[in-house]
Amino acid sequence: MERTLEFWTDASNALRPAASSIIDGRRQASTSGSVVDVVNPATRRVLFELHSAGPEDVDAAVSSARRSFADKRWRGLGPARMKGVLLSIASGIEARAEELGLCDSLEMGKPIAEAVVQARIAASFFRHFGECIDKLYGEIAPSDAFSFGLCLPEPRGVCAGIVPWNFPIINAALKAAPALAAGNSVVLKPSEIASLSAIMMSEIALEAGLPEGVLNVVTGTGPVTGAALARHPGIDLLDFTGSTATGRKVMQLAAANGTPVHLELGGKSPQIFFADMVDRIGECAPVMAGEVFWNVGQWCVARSRLLVHASVQDEVVTALATAAERFIPGNPLDPATGYGAVASEMQFRKVCSHVKQALASGARLATPWAPREEPGFAIPPVILTGVSPSMPAAREEIFGPVLVVLPFGTEEEAIALANDSDYGLAASVWTGDLACATRMGRELSSGRISVHARPPRGEGSGLALYAEPFGGSGFGIAGGLEGLRSYCRIKAVELHT
Ligand code: NDP
Repeated sequence: MERTLEFWTDASNALRPAASSIIDGRRQASTSGSVVDVVNPATRRVLFELHSAGPEDVDAAVSSARRSFADKRWRGLGPARMKGVLLSIASGIEARAEELGLCDSLEMGKPIAEAVVQARIAASFFRHFGECIDKLYGEIAPSDAFSFGLCLPEPRGVCAGIVPWNFPIINAALKAAPALAAGNSVVLKPSEIASLSAIMMSEIALEAGLPEGVLNVVTGTGPVTGAALARHPGIDLLDFTGSTATGRKVMQLAAANGTPVHLELGGKSPQIFFADMVDRIGECAPVMAGEVFWNVGQWCVARSRLLVHASVQDEVVTALATAAERFIPGNPLDPATGYGAVASEMQFRKVCSHVKQALASGARLATPWAPREEPGFAIPPVILTGVSPSMPAAREEIFGPVLVVLPFGTEEEAIALANDSDYGLAASVWTGDLACATRMGRELSSGRISVHARPPRGEGSGLALYAEPFGGSGFGIAGGLEGLRSYCRIKAVELHT
């Protein structure tokens, strides 16, 4: 059947979500009866009530995970069967990509076409980490002729994953797939704004043969459910993605138990445009605009600071303002929509306040300022010039569709501006000068640096995201075999023969 606005509207009307935790393989309402309203930000209508797990429910989930780890029902299966289960989960997610995408679209106002693609990307994480299981070798330490020092990668135990709402199914899969591949049991807390796809993912995992209790999901709010999980003494690794402020809080909670943490935090990433590329600005501008405005700017590596050589600032800003015109807020359920709603009223107010504050401090608009609250929360792309590096809009993560423009005169100034940030997640460099690109690759303090001597050439030119080690804003590495190892602890076994 053709996927039209009518199709998705009917599908959303028919959705009867199971909005509660999954503990020990079963849906569990919150013991206290506590619920929160989940709102579609594109319509401002309440979609459903989500059960908000309290400390007693979190404790039940952690206990379930601990039991499943202790009796080895998962890690005891061995690499071949574990791999088979993760590959089946990948197939299950692909088979239900439309349902998963619909959930993410409704809860956070994401365009449906993108949401479905993102569910398929989530499947690829399970496929990748499933394939890694039988490639995770240990090492042998140097020794004398009569001994072997074996360094064995072993699962850590129970991994708790706390994730944000911006890519709900991808964030859930990014935590669950490597942790499971390493043989751990998992308790996952999605954002209260967008939990349905994580719940569905854990049900798909059960259907694919993952034993009960190995992947639990606790639903609810950050300060209650998330904090109860972060402070739980039964956690062996706390794996958090979210804002820097919350990251600090969960780290303090985990520290009380000496629990190790992985943190993937916020960003204020630069894109640095050198004058030699100005002849190609027409080709580059759509990509540069996408690097900040895609997903309504709600992504951790959004390149939200444009550092541009002062001699070409006007041409570059004009081209970017033109490129930004294609990001028109539309109905997320229309397959033709490429730019959706801001994910929540809180996020909407935060973005508006940043823009107004910058304008009051002397910044100028290179795009129309046209936020709207009806029928839902929408903000078309905003480009701000006349910004000083000390303004909050230039320093703080806005997590919305706002690009600030900062001119530079020399390469050294560009490096200093780029690195003058509390974050260090990512950076893009636009230059055809290989020597300059090499120096930038060395000098920029970022976890991921993309150098563009031309716009990327489309399909086939990209990287397999799941295979690329990724870090930079907190600590811990996600992605690839390097990422998988971080879900293991290394045990030394000495053989003296
Ligand atoms: P938050 O830090 O507010 O929330 C992240 C998660 O933590 C959510 O599940 C939230 O629950 C939970 N949480 C909130 N308060 C607490 C608490 N006191 N104790 C335990 N858990 C808590 O981030 P946002 O949801 O606003 O997401 C946006 C942020 O995530 C941005 O800073 C972005 O850069 C970052 N991010 C980083 C990525 C990376 O890879 N580095 C990738 C994607 C996003 P709830 O939502 O229910 O309140």
